[in-house]
Amino acid sequence: MNRTLPALTTALACALAAPGAWADAYPEKTVTIVVPFAAGGPTDKVARDFAEALRKPLGGATIVIENVGGAGGTLGHTKVAKASPDGYTILLAHIAMATAPALYRNLQYKTEEFEYLGMINEVPMTVIARPTLPPNNYAELVKWLEANKGKINLANAGLGAASHLCGLLFQSTLKIDMTTVPYKGTGPAMTDLIGGQVDLMCDQTTNTSAQIEGGKVKAYAVTTPKRLTTPTLAKLPTLEESGMKGFNVSIWHGLYAPKGTPKPALDKLNAALKLALVDPEFVKRQEALGAVVVTDARTGPVEHKKWVAAEIDKWGPVIKAAGQYAD
Ligand code: ASP
Repeated sequence: MNRTLPALTTALACALAAPGAWADAYPEKTVTIVVPFAAGGPTDKVARDFAEALRKPLGGATIVIENVGGAGGTLGHTKVAKASPDGYTILLAHIAMATAPALYRNLQYKTEEFEYLGMINEVPMTVIARPTLPPNNYAELVKWLEANKGKINLANAGLGAASHLCGLLFQSTLKIDMTTVPYKGTGPAMTDLIGGQVDLMCDQTTNTSAQIEGGKVKAYAVTTPKRLTTPTLAKLPTLEESGMKGFNVSIWHGLYAPKGTPKPALDKLNAALKLALVDPEFVKRQEALGAVVVTDARTGPVEHKKWVAAEIDKWGPVIKAAGQYAD
């Protein structure tokens, strides 16, 4: 939906006419959380657990997830940037919020078109492969990649997605080019990896833990400087200890609303976010999947906005140096 004048006027009228009453009533209808990747993937999984935790502090509101995958998450970002700023359409996005500005020459939104609600979690990534890939550990994987140059397929969720960034760093550190196969999210990519249609993928532990544990995929390494602590993932070496000095990719998720969303709605959403992040069930589920729920000042709009700005500054030069861009 475009942010049309009538929609803006309605949101404004609601907020101005009787701010107290409007604030008390909000939310009085379904809140839609747009997830900018396909269903069944890691962002989707975080969003569904988070929506469950958000429901109670938001007065028992009905919350639905809408998956708008494609173009590395930017289609979903655009949808929310242009949505009516009435508190009923919000975005749960990840690091692509910070990488897209450097990658997409014709981005249909600006980073300033969002209200920042707060950060949710940080999630490590893992290097995984189809179950039939011959190597059984990281050293064997490197040898196999060297021997199969030109024949390797690497799945990702489109330019700017976490899987793209991680895969990019992985290829450039090893100096081995791979053919990337983009999906609308790593949910469908995982299905193809398990089925053997693609060889490799770098993906969040929130999507890979269960598949690694069930032996559906092979896992070689984690992308954070320290080993992880969950039983399934603790046995995996870090890329750093495997010889890739300085390799560190950990992604984050945050919550955003269209610019101009009434302050009472933003305040309620932020207060609910902070309560959701200490919901014991949510914290337990996230920890079991290798994610770390944020508890510091980044759960507030000001610090989260600063964090995203710092991430834009961090990833912009990496992306430019790699000569990556999309129209
Ligand atoms: N894991 C994906 C990524 O590469 C996105 C997703 O499907 O959640 O960023």
